[in-house]
Amino acid sequence: MNAPGGNDTRTTGTTAPDVPDAELRDIRKVYEGGARGVEEVSLTVGRGEFFSLLGPSGCGKSTTLRILAGLERPTSGEVRIRGESMRGRPAHRRPTNLVFQRLALFPHLTVADNVAFGPRLHGWPRKRIAETVRAKLELVGLTGYEKRHPAQLSGGQQQRVAIARALAGEPAVLLLDEPLGALDLRLRVQMQQALKRIQHDSGTTFIYVTHDQIEALTMSDRMAVMNEGRIEQIGSPAELYRSPRTTFTATFLGDTNLFEGVSRGDVLETDGISISLPRPGRIASVRPEHVAVGARIGERFTNRFRGRLEDVIFQGASLRYHVRLPSGVLLTAERPADTHPDLSIGDDVEAGWDPASAVVLDH
Ligand code: ADP
Ligand code: MG
Repeated sequence: MNAPGGNDTRTTGTTAPDVPDAELRDIRKVYEGGARGVEEVSLTVGRGEFFSLLGPSGCGKSTTLRILAGLERPTSGEVRIRGESMRGRPAHRRPTNLVFQRLALFPHLTVADNVAFGPRLHGWPRKRIAETVRAKLELVGLTGYEKRHPAQLSGGQQQRVAIARALAGEPAVLLLDEPLGALDLRLRVQMQQALKRIQHDSGTTFIYVTHDQIEALTMSDRMAVMNEGRIEQIGSPAELYRSPRTTFTATFLGDTNLFEGVSRGDVLETDGISISLPRPGRIASVRPEHVAVGARIGERFTNRFRGRLEDVIFQGASLRYHVRLPSGVLLTAERPADTHPDLSIGDDVEAGWDPASAVVLDH
């Protein structure tokens, strides 16, 4: 969180539902000394959305979030929250709150006092504070834990208290910077589900930063894929996975077979093979789950190639096949384990896909 206990936030901006909760317009940030934080970021987040910023370490996710929070001043560009410009407005006067991975709960205060901290600082009436503490602890599933101290809670429970505290001031937008990064896998998955439910039940807009594509795909209403200080693409998880526009998005969100070559009409000539595409293009992506493999795979897979089965990888629910074509190209196929054909490494096989399942990429 920023100023301990958060902000008094109820009086900012219009509440017309068609005004987006958060807007970044042409944001650029060059740090002192010349390091580039973000090159160009524009995005709009609607009322009540769970919106994620996804990208590799160093791509500018935290910088973007800190600019929204008012902890960092953009070199150029504009931040609007609920339609109102945040220019010159310090963090503690913005209708946002920030939750980090390292949760800064006050160890000497009880759970209830941690949640009540911000509202008390802002001089809320006693009754309203008590009602907020009750409601927020109920929201995060910690009713009955009011009198405990942070040290008497599990890691997941402490994280819930931090969320309750961050929501106590009724922020327009809750900003979360890799809040689950320090948790082990099992707890992280539990907390992903809990956070998604808390967001839904509270109706608060969440902007969530992560470098974990599964986390972004499973939690977000919409997400932005970021790369080197820019947004590559914005859309729903299904849109981004099924219709990536760039090589970066296609490869960052899951595995894919990438082809690059010369375009001749709807045919792509690449590495000694010709591939039919749904439309002309120079680069194409075919997800492994769209690639069939077998001794014979059937006529409907009009992109069909013979090759040698080089590897079969057991993944539990699915199997992954690597097929080496005579030209040297390696195709990856993924099939549900229960449909797995009777194949052995070294077999001469066919691998192929329906041209409609290929996605033509811009670059
Ligand atoms: P992410 O959160 O996606 O990992 P950051 O927003 O933290 O990325 O960083 C983006 C870029 O800005 C990186 O190259 C990083 O080194 C640089 N950067 C971040 N904070 C600072 C700072 N306070 N001073 C100088 N450079 C910074
Ligand atoms: Mg970061």
